[in-house]
Amino acid sequence: MSERDLDTETVLSKPSFTIPGVLECFDPETKPVPVLFESPHSGDLYPDDFAYQVPLNELRQGEDAWVDELYAAAPAHGAFLIRALYPRVYIDPNRHPRDIDTQILDGEWPEKLVPTEKTRAGVGLIWRLVPSSKAIYARPLTVAETRARIDTYYHPYHEAIAQTLDRLQEMFGATWHVDCHSMPNIAHERAPDPGETRPDFAIGDRDGTTCSPMFTEFIVETLKGMGYDVRINHPYKGVELVRRHGDPVNRRNSVQVEINRRLYMDEATLEKNSGYNELRVNITKLVEAITDYAKSATV
Ligand SMILES: [Zn+2]
Repeated sequence: MSERDLDTETVLSKPSFTIPGVLECFDPETKPVPVLFESPHSGDLYPDDFAYQVPLNELRQGEDAWVDELYAAAPAHGAFLIRALYPRVYIDPNRHPRDIDTQILDGEWPEKLVPTEKTRAGVGLIWRLVPSSKAIYARPLTVAETRARIDTYYHPYHEAIAQTLDRLQEMFGATWHVDCHSMPNIAHERAPDPGETRPDFAIGDRDGTTCSPMFTEFIVETLKGMGYDVRINHPYKGVELVRRHGDPVNRRNSVQVEINRRLYMDEATLEKNSGYNELRVNITKLVEAITDYAKSATV
């Protein structure tokens, strides 16, 4: 691959479908393969009604900055790519829609809530706390404004994924969905592994329930072959995106890939560091390997 080819893969081209402020979908630029990459946490368009009281740079610690761009080569390799445009601290598509923290609400939620350990850590569907443990809101949210975030931002993101996977399943009889994230190098105090230094990559398949074990193993071996240290289902197993869209019994494979932010950015300023270009080249190789894998599994 020449340097020139790499340059053209740096930036995402024009989306094929956009919901302004919510999401963008990119169709394959070549013969399609049954692979979807999606980046739920790289959005940085902060809605006007967010009404947060913490400094923006602290809120931005929730972003998986640059992850969408790291996978920009996906359409050129026949894969679909979807990215959220809103920030995950506003509403997190990687949570169950009823993983709601009653501490952020000013009224009674009309359905039964299912708060998980994420809500207990202040990072449920709508985050209550930033990593430094400061409260994000000065006032509770109304049920109506919480509902509006779910309807306007959360559901359309999941629908875009489901529609793409349904279409691919119909065409190919199987799908491979890669849920793309990044993680802090050192876990903060309310993370599942407080104080731990993270591996280069963490691959999550919810203990083998969201994709075929062969696919997880393939990604792990591909990354290890590039010299990275890789853990499976630690510190993250994958949450709602792979849980909801993965169904390996019916050949719908969903896997979560977490990249250690140390590999590509200054975690305080979110600026790319000197490792960014090397990582981008390696993520492009990973994209190529995954699309080849899906192609050979569906011939
Ligand atoms: Zn993430």
